Amino acid sequence: MVSTKRLQQLARQHGTPLFVVDHDELRKNYATFRKYLPRVQAYYAVKANSDPAIVKTLFDAGASFDVASMPEFMIVHELIRDMPEKERQAWIWDKIIYANPIKANGTLRQLDRYKPLVTYDNLEEIKKIKKFAPRAGLALRLRVPNTGAMVELSSKFGASSGEAVDLILEAEKEGLTVEGISFHVGSQTTNFDNYVQALNLAANVFREAKARGAGKMFLVDIGGGFPAPYDDSVKPFRELAKILNRELDRLFPKDIQILAEPGRFLVATAGTVVCTVIGKAVRDGKLCYYVDDGVYHTFSGVIFDHCQYHFEAFKKGPVETCSVFGPTCDALDVVSMTERLPADLKLGDMVYSRNIGAYSHASSTHFNGFPPAKVVHVNR
Ligand SMILES: *Cc1c(COP(=O)(O)O)cnc(C)c1O
Repeated sequence: MVSTKRLQQLARQHGTPLFVVDHDELRKNYATFRKYLPRVQAYYAVKANSDPAIVKTLFDAGASFDVASMPEFMIVHELIRDMPEKERQAWIWDKIIYANPIKANGTLRQLDRYKPLVTYDNLEEIKKIKKFAPRAGLALRLRVPNTGAMVELSSKFGASSGEAVDLILEAEKEGLTVEGISFHVGSQTTNFDNYVQALNLAANVFREAKARGAGKMFLVDIGGGFPAPYDDSVKPFRELAKILNRELDRLFPKDIQILAEPGRFLVATAGTVVCTVIGKAVRDGKLCYYVDDGVYHTFSGVIFDHCQYHFEAFKKGPVETCSVFGPTCDALDVVSMTERLPADLKLGDMVYSRNIGAYSHASSTHFNGFPPAKVVHVNR
């Protein structure tokens, strides 16, 4: 964790709003993931935070990558640009999954020469892949229960277990190679039973597909969803890992490769934002602070990620319940209606919010003329 002293120093040096990325924390999270899930290869989901320096640190730590657009693919590809062609091909084959089940024709056309692993969940996509990226390997995306996840995904993606085997056989019939199955239990899944149900569904589809002749499948991609420790209600990762290891070993023989696509888990705790109080008012008897970062910027997760962030002040003092608003003129720019902050913060005082590394800066806009927060990368 970056100390409050260092945060203040950095903010004085660089100005605010300042998004501080702790690369030791990234390495620690990756190591934790690998330690507790030794059988699982971790593909960092780049969409959680696509900052190239973050991707580079995880690359150096040994991570693989989940990308969902051509620009994300190129951020990862940039790191291996100088490898000899043959090694590069092998690296992409082993370390990148293009995990967006829906891909535009043009994207598939660009992807084909890299022979990537791509996900799919419907017949139209099989036709497109056959036509524009016949050299891609396929993973069927299965729909699984997302009960209790902070961000639900099952209404947008995934073949039902009733149609999954047919879709695998159909792709094979078209001459494509189906390498395995993938799913996503929903982001910030604190209901660990989602994983158990998903793994059992996937094992059934896997078994039935093999029995019906889809013999080449060798991987199961258990997706993302691993919860970040935003508060004490989130059970430790090792408890989830214990459940996963038990189910994986029970359901899948050792020669089946297991992949995962952690996004939030790797990057959430590595980001802290420091902002400055730029306005203060009392409205209907309630204290209101205005800060120089808001929901169109680093706090975008309040809207897009259903994530409630909390502030802390560097200054200590008697606290009061207050609202914190962003800097834009839009009424939507409300970061929190119930913060507990010192009542005597002055204009120019700074506040900070931790665990804001995922789905935050990545979806910042330039709305109303306010640019995204400046980013600094630190090692402790
Ligand atoms: C967003 C996403 C992820 C990452 O999810 P987290 O909940 O951040 O771990 C992984 N896989 C796919 C297909 C995604 O869309």
